Formats: sequence, structure tokens, C-alpha cells
Amino acid sequence: MNDSTTPSLPELPEIWQQTLNWQPTTKQQVQLQRLYELILEGNQKLNLTRITDPQEFWEKHLWDSLRGVALLLRVGEKDFASPPHHFIDIGTGAGFPGIPVAIALPDCTVTLVDSTRKKIAFLEQILPELALENVKTLTGRAEEIGQQSQYRQNYDVAMIRAVSNASVCAEYTLPLLKQGGLAIIYRGNWTEEETTALTDAVKLLGGEIEAIEQFTTPLSKSLRHCLYLRKIATTPAKFPRAVGIPTHKPL
Ligand code: SAM
Repeated sequence: MNDSTTPSLPELPEIWQQTLNWQPTTKQQVQLQRLYELILEGNQKLNLTRITDPQEFWEKHLWDSLRGVALLLRVGEKDFASPPHHFIDIGTGAGFPGIPVAIALPDCTVTLVDSTRKKIAFLEQILPELALENVKTLTGRAEEIGQQSQYRQNYDVAMIRAVSNASVCAEYTLPLLKQGGLAIIYRGNWTEEETTALTDAVKLLGGEIEAIEQFTTPLSKSLRHCLYLRKIATTPAKFPRAVGIPTHKPL
């Protein structure tokens, strides 16, 4: 599958196993490599990512995307009587974390959302090349789609990485979840004070902070956090607020 100009991604089966208790199948390995090639190609025209080195791409885009859903990769083994089916990735950019999640969880659907039309156009172009039939795309702002009945309260899991501060991410994701659904906010650093500040915002949105996981990435040992918010009540109709308000006046 690899062309002559793109290096191969490392496979690192022991690290997948030790850190996520998961192994990509041959098909998934081929899809991850093809994703890398297509993003490097797309990078020549669009500013998709600064991370192009194969080890770094593996760690910061692929491993990091899947670390957020580590628990869900083990569905069927424990914890989940019935697996979540419908995922949404807000502010997906070049497809992270949504595309690696769609590759790893082929029985789930993943909706990739971004406000930038050309990023979604790029993703629409590469999806057939990845043989991914469980991915949908949507150009739009989280503030708008969260108020539209065909998307609001429609998802089991909402993921968001590198889009805004945590309370804005909560306002973007919680309205989209069904009751009982899970928002996963990917972060770098995180502090106790930030947890205290986020707690009230999440409550206003009908959620609660279920868990905050701290971990280091397996190759560069960089610090990361994932915040898991559970939707426990209906989000009031006024959320998400109009475009731009969540970032200008975070809850
Ligand atoms: N999630 C990807 C990642 O981690 O590599 C991309 C992160 S990029 C820094 C942030 C993306 O969020 C951009 O593509 C931007 O267009 C999108 N974005 C920002 N605000 C948004 C909003 N309110 N609704 C939808 N997309 C948004």
C-alpha cells in the first residue's frame, strides 16, 4: 500500500497491546498507513498538520486519538452491556480523533464535523480511498448543529480535541448527546483548579464529570489528559448559545 515517497508508520504491536489492550488487524494497519499517506499528500495543498514524522504521527495523531476511547475499544469484554454506536467528532480538522476511531470501531458510525468547508471537502475526498463506510461528514459550527433536531441528542459519544477551552468543549458536545451519552474532551495539561471551574458549567449543561484520566504518551512521554463527561439530564434549550458566544463568554 505504501508509495515510494511516504515512509511506513511504525507498527509497535506491543505498545498497542500494553497501553490499549488492542491490536489493529492487518486491514486496520493498512487503513492507518493509507491515512498517513493521504494526509501527507493533502498537506501539500492544505495546512492540515505540522506532524509529519512517522513516529510522531503514530503517537500524536493515531495513538492519542485511540487513547481517548481506550475503554470503548474493549466493548464486549466488560463494562459495556451494549456498545455505543453513534459517535461525533467536533472540530475534526484533518480527521482526528474521528478517523482513527472509525477505523478501530468499524461497527460504529462516526460523524466528522468542522466549520471549515475545505477541511470537510478533503475528508470527503479521502474517505473512499480508506474504504471507510461508517463515516459521515458535516460542514458546520457546533453552536448551530447542536440546535438542529436531526443532530441534537442524537449521539452516544461526542469527541473533541484541540478546539477550545474545556467549558466551551462541554457546551459544544453535551447538547449533541443522548441521555447517558459520553463526551470525551482531549487535553494536554490539566489542573485541579480547572476541574473546579468546569464542574458548574457541566452541571448547567445537564452533565457531570465522570472521570479525568492522566497519562503519558508511549514514545515521547508527553503528558495528556482525557475528561469524560456523562450526560445525566436534558441540556436546557438555550445551549449551545449562538455562534461565537461560547468562546467569548465561556460558562
Ligand atoms: N481535532 C483536530 C485535531 O485534534 O487534530 C483538529 C484541531 S484544529 C486545531 C481545530 C478545528 O476545529 C479546526 O479545523 C476548526 O475549523 C474547527 N472548529 C473550531 N471551532 C469550531 C466550531 N465552533 N464548530 C466546528 N468546528 C470548529
